Amino acid sequence: MTENIIKTDAVIIGAGPVGIFAVFELGLVDIKCHVIDILDRAGGQCTELYPEKPIYDIPGLAIVTGQELTDKLMEQIKPFGAEFHFSQRVETLERLDGGFRVTTDAGTAIEAKVVVIAAGGGSFTPKRPPLEGIEAYEGKSVFYSVRKMDTMRGRDVVIVGGGDSALDWTLNLAPIAKSLTLVHRRDEFRAAPHSVEKMRKLVAEASVRLLIGQVTTLEGEAGQLSSLVVKTAGGPERVPCNAMLPFFGLTMKLGPVADWGLNLHENLIHVDTERFESSEKGIFAIGDINWYPGKLKLILSGFHEAALMAQAAHKVVYPGKKLLFQYTTSSSSLQKKLGVK
Ligand SMILES: Cc1cc2nc3c(=O)[nH]c(=O)nc-3n(C[C@H](O)[C@H](O)[C@H](O)COP(=O)(O)OP(=O)(O)OC[C@H]3O[C@@H](n4cnc5c(N)ncnc54)[C@H](O)[C@@H]3O)c2cc1C
Repeated sequence: MTENIIKTDAVIIGAGPVGIFAVFELGLVDIKCHVIDILDRAGGQCTELYPEKPIYDIPGLAIVTGQELTDKLMEQIKPFGAEFHFSQRVETLERLDGGFRVTTDAGTAIEAKVVVIAAGGGSFTPKRPPLEGIEAYEGKSVFYSVRKMDTMRGRDVVIVGGGDSALDWTLNLAPIAKSLTLVHRRDEFRAAPHSVEKMRKLVAEASVRLLIGQVTTLEGEAGQLSSLVVKTAGGPERVPCNAMLPFFGLTMKLGPVADWGLNLHENLIHVDTERFESSEKGIFAIGDINWYPGKLKLILSGFHEAALMAQAAHKVVYPGKKLLFQYTTSSSSLQKKLGVK
């Protein structure tokens, strides 16, 4: 169900490096943006797949990690006050008179004059654990992300996994859950060492229970879990559970973008190289999600595409209004938008 209807100039689907930089380029031409991402933070592939790996081919930054680049981009777009909607997947794109409406699986609806698809390799989708009947519990007592921590208050929470997400949520939810059990198949964790250390401290204090083993059975009724059976070295254990959070990693899938009636080239959105517009006026596609002859899936290509897209989007948002070409170094009007004193 739709909870909010937001009206804005541009909606950007995807908060990867290219989606973030699009906020900057659109901001320079007075276009206000809302940005949506299925992940719970900005950065796309940079923060999800290689936050600590160095990138060597960002112009002007001889070496920068995926996380650092994201942080710098987020700093750079601050003057434009874009609003981010995280942990939400854009499901539908409808055509309206003079614009579009996108709707997310969390019920947010945004109406905008232009849509910028910066969806990269597609939406990151959680991997489903191979447990019989799990689909019936999804969204009711099995969750792949936590939108509001308070929904876990007073519940018997079981977190499954050994990576950063599993450990982060163990630490965050331990104080508010009625009970918290962390289940992992071995007593070694891929998560950041300081998180593992904190988790072990909570286990030693008996605030968290750590079970080494594998969930084999879900027990419950009408989508509500009541317990899980975990196979451990000492035999099966029944664990009370009314909220299970499996963190088995993410895969990238094109997802709903494929159903929006746009011309595709091998699952990528076919764009022109002047405006980076799709087969539909007002819907642009930049970054890894687009295709044109000679396309290189590089961050710097996405940045260039964002600049040209913004010029074209200006024509849609402000029809008939002339756009002067200006440099940020010398234009006082651009500097005012950037908050330069
Ligand atoms: C290991 C690795 C190393 C790399 N090294 C380099 C390098 O050195 N230099 C370089 O230039 N490039 C490098 N790349 C490639 C670079 O990361 C990508 O080109 C870049 O991330 C593309 O940015 P993007 O914003 O287009 O897409 P992405 O970073 O993929 O971000 C897209 C975002 O859109 C979201 N999304 C998609 N669909 C939806 C939807 N329906 N609803 C909500 N959200 C949605 C996704 O969740 C994602 O967060 C590397 C990639 C990998 C995997």
